[in-house]
Amino acid sequence: MFVPRRLVRAATLSLRRAHTSAPALNSVNAEDIAHFSKFLTPTSIISTLSPQPSPSSELAPFNNDWMNKYHGQSTTVIRPRSTQEVSEVVKRCNERGIGIVPQGGNTGLVGGGVPIKDELVLSLGNMNKVRSFDPVSGILVADAGCVLESLSEYLAPHNHIMPLDLGAKGSCQIGGNVSTNAGGLRLLRYGSLHGSVLGLEVVLPDGTVLDQLSTLRKDNTGYDLKQLFIGAEGTLGIVTGVSILTAPAPQSVNNVVLALPKFDNVLPLFTKAKRQLSEILSAFEFFDRTAYDLAVKHGQGRALNEDETEGAECFVLLETSGGNKDHDDEKLNGLLENLMESDEPLINTGVISQTPAQFSSLWAIREGITEAVSKEGKAYKYDISIPLAEFKHVVDTTREHLRSKGLMRDDAVKHVIGYGHVGDGNLHLNIVATNYTPEIEAALEPFVYELVAKYKGSVSAEHGVGVMKTHALHYSKSDTSIEWMKRIKQIFDPKGIMNPGKVLP
Ligand SMILES: Cc1cc2nc3c(=O)[nH]c(=O)nc-3n(C[C@H](O)[C@H](O)[C@H](O)COP(=O)(O)OP(=O)(O)OC[C@H]3O[C@@H](n4cnc5c(N)ncnc54)[C@H](O)[C@@H]3O)c2cc1C
Repeated sequence: MFVPRRLVRAATLSLRRAHTSAPALNSVNAEDIAHFSKFLTPTSIISTLSPQPSPSSELAPFNNDWMNKYHGQSTTVIRPRSTQEVSEVVKRCNERGIGIVPQGGNTGLVGGGVPIKDELVLSLGNMNKVRSFDPVSGILVADAGCVLESLSEYLAPHNHIMPLDLGAKGSCQIGGNVSTNAGGLRLLRYGSLHGSVLGLEVVLPDGTVLDQLSTLRKDNTGYDLKQLFIGAEGTLGIVTGVSILTAPAPQSVNNVVLALPKFDNVLPLFTKAKRQLSEILSAFEFFDRTAYDLAVKHGQGRALNEDETEGAECFVLLETSGGNKDHDDEKLNGLLENLMESDEPLINTGVISQTPAQFSSLWAIREGITEAVSKEGKAYKYDISIPLAEFKHVVDTTREHLRSKGLMRDDAVKHVIGYGHVGDGNLHLNIVATNYTPEIEAALEPFVYELVAKYKGSVSAEHGVGVMKTHALHYSKSDTSIEWMKRIKQIFDPKGIMNPGKVLP
C-alpha cells in the first residue's frame, strides 16, 4: 500500500558566405532497391518499390513522428545490421544524390527523424548489440541502435547505470540520444553527453567509416571530431557505435514530491536543497499544477492524496543518490525538517517514497507528463533554456497572449503548461491544443522565440532543432555561428544528402 510520509506545512570575424545550396536530391528507384538487395537481407528492406512491394502501412511508423505532427512520404526504409552495410547504403545514396534520414527510436520531438519528402529512411534498430563493457572503468561500447532502457538493464547486474535517463527510454536509442545530445533527468548529476561520450563510430556522407570509438578518458590529440556529431541530428553522418562512460549504481536513492504554494518558492527551495544535500542531490524537477493534473488525469504515476495537493501552485520532484543510506536519509530528513520548521514554509506538504515501487511511482508522474500531454491533445512544444526566475512568467505571458488573441478556448488551446529540469535551467513550455492550426502557430511564433531571445535563452535546450526550429535558430545563434555551422556541413556533406532540411535554415 502507498503510505506516504506526509510533511505538513511543511572576436568579430568577417566571413565569406558559405555556399550550401546543394543540387536537388533524387528519389530512390527500383534499381537502387535491386542494388541494396545484393548485400542486404530481404527483411532489411521495406519498400514500395521492391519486386514484392511493402504495404504503405509498414512504412507509416517511419514516416510519422511520435507526436503525429510531422509526416514524410518515404518509399523506402533500410534497416542495416552492420556498420559495413550502413556504409554500402550511404555510398550508393551519395553516388545517386539520394537524401538519407537516419532514424533511431523515432521519439524525437522536433520532426528531425522523419523525412520531409521521400528521402530514404535509414533505421538503426537492427544494430542493437553491446560490443563491450569494462566493469572497472565503467566504459560501455554499444551499437547505435541499442534502446536506452535495454542498456540500463544490461548494466544493472554490473552495478552501473547509464548517465542519462528520459521518459522515452523504452524506445529511444543511444545513437538517437547522442545525435540529439539528449539531456533528460540525470543531467544535473552526470552532465551532458558532450562529457560522458568518449568515442563514436560514424559513417560519413560518402560512406567512409570514421572510427573514433575510443575508450580513453583522456586524449588530447588535436581536434575532438566526435563532438561535432553529438547533437548534429544526423546532418553530418550516421552514428553506428557509441563508447560511453557509465556511472556506478548509487547504493541508496530517495525521492520526494513537494507541493509548493507558489512558484516563487521554487528557487529558494533549489538553493536550500543544493546547500543541504550537496553531493547527493541528483535531480530537481519542476511541474506546474496543470501539468500535474494532466499526468494524473491520464494515469501517469500514482496521484497524491487530495489534501496533499490542495492549494499547491506547483510541485518539485527532488531525488537523492548516494553511497550510504543512513547518511543520505539523515541529510534528506534534515532538509525536510528545515523546510517544515521555517516561519514561512516554502512547501505545503511532501510525499517521500518508502519503497522501490513508490520511488518509481513518484518518478512516473514527472516522466509521464510528455505522454499525458500527447493524450490530452496536440502539443506545441517549446523546449527552452531561460533564467530560472522567468519560468512562471514565460508560461503566464504565453497564456495571456493566447487569451488576448481569443485562442484560450476548448476548441483551440486547452492548456498552457510548464514543467522541466529546474536544475538545468530548462523549461518545457507546452501549449496543448485540440488541433494543430496555422492560427495557433502564428500566435505562438515568433512570440515565444522573441520572449526567449529577450532573456538571452536558447530556443532548444535539449530536443534539438529538427525541422521545427530551423527558422528560429537565429534567435539563439549569431550569424557568425550559423555561417560556420554551414561551412562544417559543407565540408562533411557537400551534396547535402544527410537529413536534408534539418537543423540549418
Ligand atoms: C515521452 C518522451 C520524453 C522525452 N524526454 C526527453 C528528455 O527528458 N530529454 C531530452 O533531451 N529529450 C527527450 N525526449 C525527446 C527524445 O526522446 C530524445 O530526443 C531522444 O534522444 C531521441 O532518440 P531517438 O532514438 O528516438 O531518435 P529519433 O527520434 O529517431 O531521431 C532524433 C534525431 O536524431 C537523428 N538520429 C537518430 N539516430 C541517429 C543515428 N544513429 N545517427 C545519426 N543521427 C541519428 C535523427 O535523424 C533525428 O534528427 C522525449 C521524448 C518523448 C517521446
